[in-house]
Amino acid sequence: MLDRPLRAAILAAADNGTVRRAVTRYGFRLGAARFVAGESESDFLRVAAELNARGFAVACGILGEGVRERGEADDAANQYCNLLETFAARGLDANVAFKLTHVGLDLDAQLALANALRIARTAKDTGNTMRLDMEQSRYVDATLGVYRQLRQTFDNVGFVLQSCLRRSADDLRSMLPLGPNVRLVKGAYLEPPAIAFPKKRDVDESYVRLAELSLSNPGYTAIATHDPAIVERVEAFAARTGVPKKGRFEFQMLYGISTPLARSLVERGYRVRLAVPFGRYWFPYLMRRLAERPANVAFFLKGALGR
Ligand SMILES: Cc1cc2nc3c(=O)[nH]c(=O)nc-3n(C[C@H](O)[C@H](O)[C@H](O)COP(=O)(O)OP(=O)(O)OC[C@H]3O[C@@H](n4cnc5c(N)ncnc54)[C@H](O)[C@@H]3O)c2cc1C
Repeated sequence: MLDRPLRAAILAAADNGTVRRAVTRYGFRLGAARFVAGESESDFLRVAAELNARGFAVACGILGEGVRERGEADDAANQYCNLLETFAARGLDANVAFKLTHVGLDLDAQLALANALRIARTAKDTGNTMRLDMEQSRYVDATLGVYRQLRQTFDNVGFVLQSCLRRSADDLRSMLPLGPNVRLVKGAYLEPPAIAFPKKRDVDESYVRLAELSLSNPGYTAIATHDPAIVERVEAFAARTGVPKKGRFEFQMLYGISTPLARSLVERGYRVRLAVPFGRYWFPYLMRRLAERPANVAFFLKGALGR
């Protein structure tokens, strides 16, 4: 995680129309291709098959968030359902993870719930799973509420908790009776200190506490981080407490980041899933990846200058 001022500046640029227009005009040349499979579904399917062949499971994300029209929200849900059918037909080891604002949460909570239910049903019918991504803190209550509603009918659904948020330990404890499938992340959004740990050290310690609590209880845990120190601590905890390498948890990383670490985990017998996004609306996703690491900004600028 970056120092707060630099991170804030990059995330502010993500909301700036001029920056967005300049960046999207130059498309993938500026470096988005490192983090995104491509703009089309066929780009994604090709990358997913390649990753499966190398031993990785895949989580598919269609890039898009904060949609403002019902039609767009329904289209996104349809696309996820069609993808789940395609994964089954092609025997791909891929599931889906999506943002509730992509399927209508900003418009109408009932619309988002109906779309999420439809995707969960299709995932169930195709023998697959789905997960609700976690967005900014203002969406946490609504997202956990939708998860609880999905969980009443479906056992193939998951959600995400962010270790940067002070509330996450309570949220996890409240979900434990459901035997939840939870992905743990540090959190990609800048949140005020009143509700989020400002220091990286505290975010990291919170992460390990959440991981240990989740692994000590029934359910399934996705350890989604590129942080080698946390990966090592989780591996040690699992070994010490007799949690098997497969079946109770998996590691997850983002496409284009920390590939050697991901590969070594596969070689050591763990299940590793790479989150692979595709689609035309890659700008906010790219900005979050830049905000996470200064070296990415240099990489991006080199692309922008054509060097
Ligand atoms: C599978 C997956 C799903 C996610 N889903 C969500 C979600 O639903 N909601 C949410 O808020 N966040 C999500 N995130 C993002 C997450 O919150 C963090 O912002 C991101 O993972 C960076 O944190 P880190 O755990 O890797 O640790 P950090 O301490 O940030 O990084 C540890 C090391 O990983 C490497 N690294 C990290 N980020 C990058 C990068 N962008 N480019 C290059 N190297 C990097 C660096 O070597 C760095 O030193 C997800 C992350 C993953 C892996």
